[in-house]
Amino acid sequence: MNIVLLGAPGSGKGTQAKRLEEAFGIAQLSTGDMLRAEVKKGSKIGRTADTLMRAGQLVPDNLIIALIETVLDDEACRDGFILDGFPRTVPQAEALDVMLETKALKLDRVLELEVDDEAMVERISGRFTCANCGEGYHDSFKPPQTPGVCDVCGSTEFFHRADDNATTVRERLKAYHLQTEPISAYYEKRGILTRIDGMGGMDQVTKDLTKAIEAQPQG
Ligand code: ADP
Ligand code: ZN
Repeated sequence: MNIVLLGAPGSGKGTQAKRLEEAFGIAQLSTGDMLRAEVKKGSKIGRTADTLMRAGQLVPDNLIIALIETVLDDEACRDGFILDGFPRTVPQAEALDVMLETKALKLDRVLELEVDDEAMVERISGRFTCANCGEGYHDSFKPPQTPGVCDVCGSTEFFHRADDNATTVRERLKAYHLQTEPISAYYEKRGILTRIDGMGGMDQVTKDLTKAIEAQPQG
């Protein structure tokens, strides 16, 4: 099963992709995580990406396409993959089609989480992550039970993404509407797109995504 998960910044794509990875035994491929790893390494790609990500802008298509191409062949993708954060532009979607065709693979589902912009600004501005186990938190919606201590692993170190602030979020939302949203029409024409309400609770969204994955395809 090969899936693309679409959704604005803050829509919960990352969290949901991790859940689907476990439930369906397919690999989560997050271009955001890959880029942040490159930034941490200080590689050439990382240095280019860092400035753009901090500004809430997309990194160039050719760079991200090359990055994805290297991981699709990984053993982890043997039973399928869930793309989280890619494609983000129509040229990326076209490049993905070409890549998959070359590998004799196809996309089974494109799932789009529909959310409200203002809620995303609020969600993103307060979110932070455990530096040890990756558990996600939020200042108002989900603070750790003991302040400063991770509920899951007890670590006291957390990090806040450099691009998770109100100003950058607005840029990221703008980029999403302008550059990424047109992709849903591209997939809708092929009959593989399902839109899902992303404003319900996380468990409800997981249920709806699972249902859409298990449903017979329309086409
Ligand atoms: P979010 O969806 O919350 O914005 P991501 O972690 O998916 O978070 O992406 C963070 C940033 O990484 C984006 O704002 C963008 O700069 C860059 N990025 C990630 N994926 C892509 C992509 N496919 N094309 C271009 N830039 C990307
Ligand atoms: Zn933790």
